[in-house]
Amino acid sequence: MRSYLLLLIPSDTYRAADFLSAANAVGIEVIVACDQHQTLEQTVSGKLLTLDFLDLSASIKRVTAFSKDYPIAAVVPTEESATLLATALSEALHLPHNPLSAVEASGNKRKLRECFKDKGLPCPDFQVHPLNQPPETIAQSLAYPVVLKPTSLSGSQGVIRADNPASFLAAFKRIKHLLNHPDTIRRKGKSPEEILIEQYIPGQEVALEGLLNNGVLSCLALFDKPDPLEGPYFEETLYVTPSRLPQALQEKVITAVSAGTKALGLKEGPVHAEIRVNGNTPVVIEIAARSIGGRCASVLRFGTGYSLEHIILNHALGSPIPSLQREKQAAGVMMIPIPKAGILKEIQGLTTAKQVEGVIGIEMTSLLGQTLIPLPEGRHYLGFIFAKGPSPEHVEAALRQAHQALSFVIS
Ligand code: ADP
Ligand code: CA
Repeated sequence: MRSYLLLLIPSDTYRAADFLSAANAVGIEVIVACDQHQTLEQTVSGKLLTLDFLDLSASIKRVTAFSKDYPIAAVVPTEESATLLATALSEALHLPHNPLSAVEASGNKRKLRECFKDKGLPCPDFQVHPLNQPPETIAQSLAYPVVLKPTSLSGSQGVIRADNPASFLAAFKRIKHLLNHPDTIRRKGKSPEEILIEQYIPGQEVALEGLLNNGVLSCLALFDKPDPLEGPYFEETLYVTPSRLPQALQEKVITAVSAGTKALGLKEGPVHAEIRVNGNTPVVIEIAARSIGGRCASVLRFGTGYSLEHIILNHALGSPIPSLQREKQAAGVMMIPIPKAGILKEIQGLTTAKQVEGVIGIEMTSLLGQTLIPLPEGRHYLGFIFAKGPSPEHVEAALRQAHQALSFVIS
């Protein structure tokens, strides 16, 4: 009997097309599960499902019944918001998967910190403060600078550095407001109840893109983040690979991430980690049980031209992976940050930006007429610039030049 790939595609995904074309390349038939009702669902019976990504038990029931007619060979999420459900479904269908508790811990900043501290891994001092308790007493007791963050959001949403009690109180209030916002509650299914407060770790930041296979981590790409990330908000901009860190330090970073995945109990599939290199010590800020977000993965190619999504699907299906070796040339992406709040009226300079040597593409993901919300409340980017070149320096320069050529009319 033929078997299927179940792709969990949240309605706000950036990566549906990349995963669908990877499935096509791998040669597996796809069933799409979305978190919003599809009008076509009845018409293309067996091809489309609507699932509540937050209601694990109802979704398990639905998919288990469905799989009697359509045997499922793998369940793959395209975004972080579908990761937990994908794990729960894989467990129910007896497919290889991460322990649910490990995925839960990687998606919850408090649990991740507690786990690292427990296992003796480098970890900033931290404490957790309930949203409904006045923060004034704690503001006086902290060793500044600190970073405040919601425990279960991502993309730096609500992550704020505070250097003194006054900025701490302002940040606390701002995060509380964000966590009580109807949009946050709708996405999370409930209002998050606590704020994590941790010591600020100085140092250069890198990001590791990896794949776990039976508990063994392979590094697919190590990215430098050449823009300083010193706060008060931590908007991602440049990602450039290969890293320019000394080789020995790169090895240490990989070892630290590998230790982190073991501590969490993650065993299978993609991981995306952020690491601060504090002097000579890599401190893992976060390990997510998913691949790199936004449109960033499209700049990665492996072996004879395989996409990251192709590799993820091969792994999930238990098929041989052609290559984990990224292509020779340097590659990078600029996530174009939202410079101010307002309505996007016009994008200028696109043609010039696209002509910058080394730039291989620009994708605007915000639409004209769209309301833009910058960090720390926002969670979107204007778009993405991609570049490749003979060295990371070339790539960084191309991305900066293209970004400078762009201007955005926001009213
Ligand atoms: P998110 O899941 O929202 O991306 P992170 O915990 O990864 O949240 O934080 C986002 C960014 O904020 C990090 O990439 C880093 O630049 C910065 N950051 C977070 N925590 C710290 C910290 N303790 N010290 C210094 N920078 C931090
Ligand atoms: Ca992060």
